Amino acid sequence: MPAASLRLLLVSTPMGPIGQGLGGGVELTLESLLRGLAARGHRLTVLAATGSRLADDLPVRLLLEPGVPQASWQHADRDAPVTIPADGLLPRLWQRALALQEDHDRVLNLGYDWLPLWLTGVFRTPLFHLVSMGSVSRAMDEAIAAVAAGHPGRLAFHTAAQAADFALPTPPRLLANGFDFDRYTCRQTPERVLGWVGRIAPEKGLEDAAVAAARLGWPLRVWGLREDPAYAAAVEASVPAGTIDWRGFLPTDRLQAELGACAALLNTPKWTEAFGNVVVEAMACGVPVVAYRRGGPAELVEPGLTGVLVPPDDPSALVAALPEALAIDRRACRSRAEERFGLGAFAERVERWLLAQPG
Ligand code: UDP
Repeated sequence: MPAASLRLLLVSTPMGPIGQGLGGGVELTLESLLRGLAARGHRLTVLAATGSRLADDLPVRLLLEPGVPQASWQHADRDAPVTIPADGLLPRLWQRALALQEDHDRVLNLGYDWLPLWLTGVFRTPLFHLVSMGSVSRAMDEAIAAVAAGHPGRLAFHTAAQAADFALPTPPRLLANGFDFDRYTCRQTPERVLGWVGRIAPEKGLEDAAVAAARLGWPLRVWGLREDPAYAAAVEASVPAGTIDWRGFLPTDRLQAELGACAALLNTPKWTEAFGNVVVEAMACGVPVVAYRRGGPAELVEPGLTGVLVPPDDPSALVAALPEALAIDRRACRSRAEERFGLGAFAERVERWLLAQPG
């Protein structure tokens, strides 16, 4: 049990309402955090965009703010300035957080943006940041480096590869991520199909998985938010018709039910993936993962046990790795993922972090 029951204020992503995929992996991270921290007796308030929906059974106070979402940092130029639109959601969220801080013991920021990082020294209630991406912008790198220099205990990352993207004077606090394995069913007998899950955007590298599937002559089922329709069309045009089976963006329960049918998941990011939720979600369904040895997924996949790691940007390596992936014991794959990425242990790591830095 926790050392103390904390009153926690969690501030969600300024990318838009929770529940539509606009926040990427942060949406699932938030739900895991809430579930895990509530089970440890903490009292939770979430501040999020109007239109956000959380699971009905979460014992959480949800406060909503309207406003125009932020543009994504990962699609801006590396040297782009910090911009906030008129009637912006980001400043509204943080104005409200400032007003609410006295009623809370800790404030936890889940948004990848400049304003909350800059506010670290301004808040009277300790403000913590769970960084959700690697380095994509100079302005953000500077903001993260400034917190790392002045308040190192207030930053945490998902993986070592993600943290290595930033200039940090002290060893990073690594939290991995947590998953509610009760929501995922391990399916023993797959179909002759491959899977790919993620936002449909260039940094996710769908084109390589499509090429590999086409060479193998296996269909590729694709789940995820179509963030960049022109990119999606270009990928589809690059492979024979029928290679890609677009399944849309599904809520977790439906996603996992469909994902379990896949013989293997291909994970082919072109950037430093901070963690790679979909990698663990596939494992939770008993689906082995063939991933590029890059970023978070390289720390998640254990070769021969939960998947295969191959050299990045090489579709032929994905093709060559498939037989090894198919030989993996799907039940053992799921068990190993559960051992490493359970909800309770994640919440405990987060709690330890929040309690380590009271001032
Ligand atoms: N996702 C989903 N339904 C879908 C496809 C994806 O809920 O149909 C979720 C998935 O569960 C994961 C997130 O989208 O939590 C993608 O997160 P990831 O960490 O893989 O990448 P990010 O989008 O944060 O870069």
